[in-house]
Amino acid sequence: MSPDLEKANAKRQGKAQKVLSNLGVKLQIFKPSGRELWTVVGTDGDFIVDYDSTGRRPSYCSCQDFHFRVLSGTVSECYHLIALKQARAHRQHSTIVFSDEEYEGFLRALLRDVFSRIS
Ligand SMILES: [Zn+2]
Repeated sequence: MSPDLEKANAKRQGKAQKVLSNLGVKLQIFKPSGRELWTVVGTDGDFIVDYDSTGRRPSYCSCQDFHFRVLSGTVSECYHLIALKQARAHRQHSTIVFSDEEYEGFLRALLRDVFSRIS
């Protein structure tokens, strides 16, 4: 691994630790369907993160780092994904319960936030 890449990975680890200590990994559960939505509150806003621990589905994060550096193969994961995996492994996340009726509004507001940072 190149020194630059090592430095970049160390930086991602550091940012992930900060997210974890702020309980920035959030699990939104919608009842009664039980639908789950994971978000990570980073230094630059909220991101939707999809991680399948069985590995059947590829991971996804809505951040720029993921789109530009993870999808291109430059790095293996963004700091949101690192934080999410650690939070799930150590139950270091907050859980918020919503009703199913709130799902659409929640997702709409979240996507608006996500896209405002991409454009
Ligand atoms: Zn990310």
